[in-house]
Amino acid sequence: MRRLSLFGATGSVGRSTLDLIRRDGDGWRVTVLTANSDVAELAKLAREFRPDLAVIADAARHAELKAALAGTGIETAAGAEALVAAARLPADLVMAAIVGSAGLAPTMAALEAGRDVALANKEALVSAGDLMMAAARRSGSTILPVDSEHNAIFQCLAGGRVDQVRRITLTASGGPFRTLGAEAMAHVTPAQAVAHPNWSMGAKISVDSATMMNKGLELIEAHHLFPVGLDRIGILVHPQSVIHSMVEYVDCSTLAQLGSPDMRIPIASALAWPQRMATPCAPLDLAAIGRLDFEAPDETRFPATALCRAAIAEGGARPAQLNAANEVAVAAFLAGRISFPAIVDTVRRVIDAEAPAAPASLQDIFSVDATSRRTAQHFVDQLIHA
Ligand code: NAD
Ligand code: MG
Repeated sequence: MRRLSLFGATGSVGRSTLDLIRRDGDGWRVTVLTANSDVAELAKLAREFRPDLAVIADAARHAELKAALAGTGIETAAGAEALVAAARLPADLVMAAIVGSAGLAPTMAALEAGRDVALANKEALVSAGDLMMAAARRSGSTILPVDSEHNAIFQCLAGGRVDQVRRITLTASGGPFRTLGAEAMAHVTPAQAVAHPNWSMGAKISVDSATMMNKGLELIEAHHLFPVGLDRIGILVHPQSVIHSMVEYVDCSTLAQLGSPDMRIPIASALAWPQRMATPCAPLDLAAIGRLDFEAPDETRFPATALCRAAIAEGGARPAQLNAANEVAVAAFLAGRISFPAIVDTVRRVIDAEAPAAPASLQDIFSVDATSRRTAQHFVDQLIHA
């Protein structure tokens, strides 16, 4: 039996993970389950999967969680430090499926403790990629990418070596506004933005997909996971989301990974690696799909990818700053406080306003994250009161 610690159990990736575990029950023992604030859902999952420990990030909810799990023998804990402690507990695999840089501290703790990490939480890697990769190297942890593109690349790299890669192509659906004119984008609603054409995901990543910030964050993620050089990582819009990414080798052979757009496929790949596990996902039916389309990304209507490329080229704390500003701006958009184009505008304004010093430690990253959030919030408030 393999022991799984699941961070972000109540989210979209968390629920898909538990769906697979439920079907493959005999192979797994869930040891840790965590959630942000949804006590009822966390308690329900804990009663089903019987972990040793259930952690609620919102410390004010601890009493509620304790009461909900009374008599079960399941230990409870609460708060950010409890998440970090939980990440260090023995486990064969830690699933990092918290959204945002809130997942950085526990993910880093798991890597430092030598745990293998199935990584969905891309914002952690965007914010502190150098530190995370160094921690994994030191402790011998394996990072198994869960993001569908990076999982695809990881699979394609089984057919060759990183130093023989000519080009990595990240595919992008283009999101719900792929064909929308720039003027119309000023009026799109949160509901329209979260309605992704191919994937069912949490609200934050759905908005990121709509702005294409998601692809920019993924470019940064790929740069850390697959160090082939930034100029060798490209983006290709592919509206059907069937090809999840591609790797071209020096001999001009291109490997691609294909599948239905169902996150349970890359999650299963990470869970079972280096084996394979059965999933209930729809097998790929290319005859039914009929055609696959491709187009170059439009960085005029979607400037986020260029911002991300510049941030990672500059390096240091720029990506952490960009990520934190984006988290604030996306939350403001989802709350109906700013317009859709104002999301990426806010990120750009924060980047233009401050040049963060190079980070030497995780603490420095947290400090840049906090400063960037304050500055982004300031710009958001200005927009609202304008
Ligand atoms: P989600 O919003 O559905 O779930 C997020 C989870 O994180 C929840 O369990 C929530 O309780 C927890 N959480 C939120 N804020 C927290 C905080 N401050 N402290 C502790 N826990 C907190 O998000 P999701 O769509 O499942 O995405 C999770 C991560 O996986 C993100 O980084 C996302 O970019 C990445 N990802 C998701 C998908 C997808 O299909 N959903 C695909 C690729 C990558
Ligand atoms: Mg992705």
